Amino acid sequence: MPGMMDTVLNLGLNDETVRGLAARSNNERFAWDAYRRFIQMYADVVLDIKSAAGEEADPFSLALARLKQKRRVKEDTMHTAADLQELVRTFKAIVRKRSKVPFPEDPTDQLWGAIGAVFGSWNNERAVAYRQMNSIPSGWGTAVNVCAMVFGNLGPDSGTGVAFTRDPATGERRFYGEYLMNAQGEDVVAGIRTPQPIETLERSSPKAWKDLLRVQKLLERHFRDMQDLEFTIQAGKLYMLQCRTGKRTGFAAARIAVDMVSEKLITRKEALLRVEPEALNQLLQPVFAPKDLAQARKGGRVLTRGLNAGPGAATGRIVFDAERAVRRGEEGERVVLVRVETSPEDIRGMHAARGILTVRGGMTSHAALVARQMGRVCVAGAGDIDIDHASRTMRVAGRKLKEGAWISLDGTTGEVIEGELDTRPSQVISALFGKGKKRARGGPSFEAFQRLMKWADQFRRLKIRTNADQPDQCRTAIAFGAEGIGLCRTEHMFFEGTKIDAVREMILSETTADRERALARLLPLQRRDFEGIFRAMGTRPVTVRTLDPPLHEFLPHTDKEIRALASDMGVSPRALRAKVESLRELNPMLGHRGCRLGITYPEITRMQARAIFEAACNVARRGGKKPRPEIMIPLVSTPRELALQAREIHAIADEVFAKKKLRIPYLVGTMIELPRSALVADEIAAHAQFFSFGTNDLTQTTFGISRDDAGSFIPLYVEQEILSANPFERLDRAGVGRLMRIACDEGRAARADIKLGICGEHGGEPDSIAYCHELGLDYVSCSPYRVPIARLAAAQAVLREG
Ligand code: PEP
Ligand code: MG
Repeated sequence: MPGMMDTVLNLGLNDETVRGLAARSNNERFAWDAYRRFIQMYADVVLDIKSAAGEEADPFSLALARLKQKRRVKEDTMHTAADLQELVRTFKAIVRKRSKVPFPEDPTDQLWGAIGAVFGSWNNERAVAYRQMNSIPSGWGTAVNVCAMVFGNLGPDSGTGVAFTRDPATGERRFYGEYLMNAQGEDVVAGIRTPQPIETLERSSPKAWKDLLRVQKLLERHFRDMQDLEFTIQAGKLYMLQCRTGKRTGFAAARIAVDMVSEKLITRKEALLRVEPEALNQLLQPVFAPKDLAQARKGGRVLTRGLNAGPGAATGRIVFDAERAVRRGEEGERVVLVRVETSPEDIRGMHAARGILTVRGGMTSHAALVARQMGRVCVAGAGDIDIDHASRTMRVAGRKLKEGAWISLDGTTGEVIEGELDTRPSQVISALFGKGKKRARGGPSFEAFQRLMKWADQFRRLKIRTNADQPDQCRTAIAFGAEGIGLCRTEHMFFEGTKIDAVREMILSETTADRERALARLLPLQRRDFEGIFRAMGTRPVTVRTLDPPLHEFLPHTDKEIRALASDMGVSPRALRAKVESLRELNPMLGHRGCRLGITYPEITRMQARAIFEAACNVARRGGKKPRPEIMIPLVSTPRELALQAREIHAIADEVFAKKKLRIPYLVGTMIELPRSALVADEIAAHAQFFSFGTNDLTQTTFGISRDDAGSFIPLYVEQEILSANPFERLDRAGVGRLMRIACDEGRAARADIKLGICGEHGGEPDSIAYCHELGLDYVSCSPYRVPIARLAAAQAVLREG
């Protein structure tokens, strides 16, 4: 949890030992600098002395700033030993005043105080937030390390820094990092002084540079992964403080994994396991449209440039504090969080923002690192910006921008641009979908993406389908590697244009004859839509679900709509209003929905079946290839519901095929999305050639939590660890998963060749995909943009089996 927990440096110093340190180091200034740092850090971490309300910074930083002003010096390093001694006295007075007890002089007391505080920091706000975002259980707890110091503040030939063995933003193979001479680690990560690029160490400390180059290579070879290193140089000698696997962007993760295979450092299997499936999301994120960007540059709208800490393009309204970012983000507004310093305390605000812009701090400040890992666009260390919190404005390049003004960040170049810019598809997206000149030829992230996907396909066993109901969605999904449609929600095909009127007429018809008239109007529209989908999908399987509308979404609401529809239907507005009222349900999610509609109005199922089979025959005739429809009945809870619906479908199939003199192979199956259907799956399988788990409804009905209302309390449940994750996002294996297992076992026992899949949202979520693999499903189905994620997750599920 980089930077989320606390540490205390220089522990053991007091009025007596400081003299010993001065004598041993023969450096009075250094000893007092270490002492003042210790008091400052101990007061913050252990004694919890923070800035008081209305103060700009903590009292120690303010005292330090005042002393700098008094002595007219720019850098902390320019203070003399006497200055620092004075500062120690001031700091101790602050401690006594704020905490009502003197600063502890006994090193043992200091040590126990520090140990307790570090343990306690496991539960600080940012650590808790980080764990929530990364699904780390709180029960794990922490250890505390106590170790000897080396001093980067011993003089001009000492220093400290942070480095990565490869570029953590792009994945490029180059040693990358920052350092500060005559400083301690906190100065680098906290962004108090702006650090130097690592290459310049060659001049400032040649011997340490040579050693560092050797060590970084050794560590990367040893751990066979990109490492994040922290080091200190004490009087010209290099010491390594820590090394861990480096956090990286999705771009870097993909590129490093693929490059390391070429370098024979890791195998393809290892490469596949190195990339978090969710990280692929970043490779699909938009960048700014080059024309917009060029115009902004020419028009002088580039306000300044900072460090390109997190790639991608973000446009949003300026907010100056994390809390507001969270609030506005929740209201659906796009915001860019602008801060003086990158502090890990802002983690929730960073999560809510599209982009993060900081005035101070480097690429390796912990907040920049966390932003990258979250996939947030981040520009750091844009030092020309002057923020005035009192008036909630910022000044830069002679411009004054208020909170709420639009700003754009290019996290790849580090540019900060005034106004809102259009974004365009990423390298991967334009290489996959661009036409003509717009088609990018690739580039490193596209190449890495393609190779990973190819390898994933060699290992995965699960097929990947997509949830799509329009031909363009089908084409997108195929380009991403989808192997079929797992769910075509036919009600979505009715939302546009005049189709909705025909659907309304059908729903609101009083007689079967009226309903059939409305359905006759819908038939050609449906048929045309299915033809488009079948053409796009070729011979890939296409699961079409019969109508499952929450009826209220289709009913007319306003008087104007009712009057217009009544006149179309030739009925009085009063009669129509009464009909609408009679159809209103108290709980539409559990109401007249799914197959219940097809049971009460079988003519709807018949019309849909006819549209599907006629479309399939037409496409087969014209293109020569036979589509593979799989017709799926929703919200079944009893075998007889399915039997009746299947009978209608088979009858229409026979009729259409006889008329067209052509047979199309097809399946009829059902969704398993109610606990009862899972529990009687053996009986249902007698009528179903396939099951598809509708885990959205199955989760809703297993928990008894409305999927539309869960948002108001599920976050609290996760926070309090009542639930380990939102069950609508990550499949609840113990409950919902258990029902799935029962249904799989019973379904297979009743019908050995039953086809099994999932089409709830969980079909695109890596942990849920691993569970589907474990259950031995045939496929998962997810939204088009999640197909690459599912491909990788499905491969990982195989590789983790061991
Ligand atoms: C489901 O319930 O999981 C499902 C896929 O159907 P819908 O989301 O359309 O209810
Ligand atoms: Mg459903």
